[in-house]
Amino acid sequence: MKKITIIGAGIGGLTTAIALTQNGFDVEIFEASKEFKNAGSGINLAINAMQIYKELGIYDDILLAANYTNSMNALNKELKVLTSAKFHNFENKYNVKTVAIHRASLHKILLNHIGNTKIHLNKKLKSLEQHNEIINLSFEDGTSYNTTIVIGADGIHSNVRKSIFNNTALRDAEQVCWRGISNAIIDKKHTNELNEIWGRGNRFGFVHISSNEIYWFALINKDQFITKDADLVQLFSDYPHIIKNIISETTKKDILCNEIWDLKPIDKWYSGNVCLIGDAAHATTPNLGQGACQAIESAMALSICLKQEENIETAFSKFQLMRKQKANYVTQTSWILGKIAQSNNLVGCFLRNFIVQMTPKFITDKQSDRILKLNF
Ligand SMILES: Cc1cc2nc3c(=O)[nH]c(=O)nc-3n(C[C@H](O)[C@H](O)[C@H](O)COP(=O)(O)OP(=O)(O)OC[C@H]3O[C@@H](n4cnc5c(N)ncnc54)[C@H](O)[C@@H]3O)c2cc1C
Repeated sequence: MKKITIIGAGIGGLTTAIALTQNGFDVEIFEASKEFKNAGSGINLAINAMQIYKELGIYDDILLAANYTNSMNALNKELKVLTSAKFHNFENKYNVKTVAIHRASLHKILLNHIGNTKIHLNKKLKSLEQHNEIINLSFEDGTSYNTTIVIGADGIHSNVRKSIFNNTALRDAEQVCWRGISNAIIDKKHTNELNEIWGRGNRFGFVHISSNEIYWFALINKDQFITKDADLVQLFSDYPHIIKNIISETTKKDILCNEIWDLKPIDKWYSGNVCLIGDAAHATTPNLGQGACQAIESAMALSICLKQEENIETAFSKFQLMRKQKANYVTQTSWILGKIAQSNNLVGCFLRNFIVQMTPKFITDKQSDRILKLNF
């Protein structure tokens, strides 16, 4: 049985472990964190990711723990719908649903499905070196370990990537994002919607992840940013009252705040017997809600290639061919969408709202299908 070492136990690393074990590989994971925390945020899993989870036998567990989402709306501050994507046709076409779920619940489900995979916690990879057939892993705690095949699933700041390539660059989207989980009670009509309200240089989105929990995110351009502890009710005071309600009913200490970056698309995802996956290979801004979904697609594609090809580099090359074009399309489209959605000036906002209202449905459906359909 071939042994595969994964660095990082995020959504990408765990899904890769599940797909590989189901394909008969012996998998082990090294993870930097001391424990898995209940991160105070949710995540949207779109139809492309849910198709993979169905194939992996995890779909029903996720549906049980998540909230079904049937549409995504962009609204102006008067709550007028600028554009709305209904998922019904895609649900019928691909026979799966879109959901929003607490990240901790998703993590728990993935951990329940990793089989015999051993996870070594508190093992932060510092760097790796390849010598002929052997890959030597050096950890921050001073220990080292030899293995033969490595998957770098260690996120956007990947040390695996830095060890094999020295010319990759992160891009600063110049936006800051707060995320939280609220217990606000809002109009039931929003129960199955993902709503995003667009302002000037700022945005606020919310979606239920269970009947009594709302996952929300608030983005502002960096030039409006003062501090991570900003009073968000004040910052979004010109938004509709529902937003004040959602923010106020959130435990403040659990609110996360991050700058938004992506990875400028890179030429190659592998070197020798080391391959990158998920954010380590193709980190995107969150505007399409696709970062993890792309990691999940890559996890499945990589496991298929490793099963089909005896030669590891051939498998990695085939994997890259299968996935790179789509992942790069998502990264670039998400980057542009983020700039449009966060328009700062009056004319820009007027044009943005006008264009999204006027774009015919068949065009937006075609763009969505390009992302939701699997090409392997
Ligand atoms: C604000 C925001 C909202 C988002 N919303 C969505 C959404 O709705 N839908 C969606 O699909 N995506 C979303 N994303 C993107 C999504 O979170 C990421 O794309 C996804 O988590 C990537 O998974 P990953 O496993 O590749 O990396 P990560 O989630 O970053 O996991 C990497 C893992 O590796 C570990 N690690 C890091 N360095 C080392 C090391 N040196 N040694 C060992 N272990 C290490 C980390 O501790 C972590 O466990 C969002 C992102 C942001 C910032």
